Amino acid sequence: MDTNAPVLIGADTLEALVANIFRASGCDAAEAGRISHHLLGANLAGHDSHGVVRVPRYVEWQKAGYVVAGQQAEIVTDGGAFAVLDAKWGFGQTVAPQATALGIERAQQHGTAIIALRNAGHIGRVGAYSEQAIAAGLISIHFVNVAGSVLVAPFGGTERRFSTAPFSVGVPTDPPVVLDFATSRVAEGKVLVASNGGKALPADALIEPDGTLSGDPHTLYGEYEQVGPRSPSNGLGAIRAFGEHKGSGLAFMCELLAGAFTGGGCSGPVDARGRIANGMLSIFISPRHFGTEAAFRQTAEDYVAWVKSCQPDTPGGEVLAPGEPEARLRAERLKNGVPLQPDTWESIIRCARSLGVTVPN
Ligand code: NAD
Repeated sequence: MDTNAPVLIGADTLEALVANIFRASGCDAAEAGRISHHLLGANLAGHDSHGVVRVPRYVEWQKAGYVVAGQQAEIVTDGGAFAVLDAKWGFGQTVAPQATALGIERAQQHGTAIIALRNAGHIGRVGAYSEQAIAAGLISIHFVNVAGSVLVAPFGGTERRFSTAPFSVGVPTDPPVVLDFATSRVAEGKVLVASNGGKALPADALIEPDGTLSGDPHTLYGEYEQVGPRSPSNGLGAIRAFGEHKGSGLAFMCELLAGAFTGGGCSGPVDARGRIANGMLSIFISPRHFGTEAAFRQTAEDYVAWVKSCQPDTPGGEVLAPGEPEARLRAERLKNGVPLQPDTWESIIRCARSLGVTVPN
């Protein structure tokens, strides 16, 4: 029997368990539900790196006071069509939807809005905020960084200088197009998943201090127990930026816009305790206000169909639009359950029991 085979957990069961964990860790029911729904949503979309695998780490951060329950983002500058919000280390799943809702509201008034969010707890899968804007009929562009986290080597270097700085764009076509990725060759959570026996990393995802390329999670985490915490501070290597000098350049811009411009700070130590925070600079655009909505949608949808009609490069292959893989997996996992690596499931069970939460059989 393969002891490392994933366990399949029903989406509803998993969402309820994770919500109970965050209730027990001190969040109110609404916030616990938001965190749980968001993390499960990442698993359903196939981004296990940003799903329930994060539960024990979030609980540890909450205990340490790195992330604060019940916190709303505060508006520190309000220019109508633009605003700066300080999240004061509130849970990302509370403050990022709040910032996005404000951006949507302002773009619906002015046609466009720019929202700078700083000091947010981990906001998880950024595509969720593009989807929130899409549901309101808006285009959105999000530059994100992780202040306090340095994991990624810039093009041409071996030392950590960037965070995994994700970038997302959402376009409200039918079906929607959602591009959402880390600017690192892999998201840190994918190294976490690989270290838990999940999907292996590409052999050139990481870089050792001497410049040797590696796909071994120990390059980032150093030594670790099979079940237990992993800390990038224990490893000597780095994740590589994606896309050579171009991806490295986009990561650079995410740091400058989401870190320096929002006021949350760029990658690098910002807190002596090692606390991290997401910064996000979001641009919201209302095609209706620009007077281009109908033509834009038609042209965009025709274009998506034309791109997808491209001859596949392998027999039986298919050209997909950004967002399609997530939509397909979501439908499949909602039906059949969410596959979790045994170590991930075990660490969630341990976390639940440590808080007195009953685990379903
Ligand atoms: P990834 O490498 O899996 O890329 C995902 C993107 O590529 C999606 O837009 C997807 O639709 C598209 N895509 C995938 N396969 C495709 C195909 N065959 N054809 C066309 N498009 C395709 O993503 P990643 O870099 O591992 O990032 C995973 C998640 O991690 C993202 O949701 C990101 O927001 C999140 N993240 C968050 C933080 C944070 O600090 N909050 C940091 C880093 C990453």
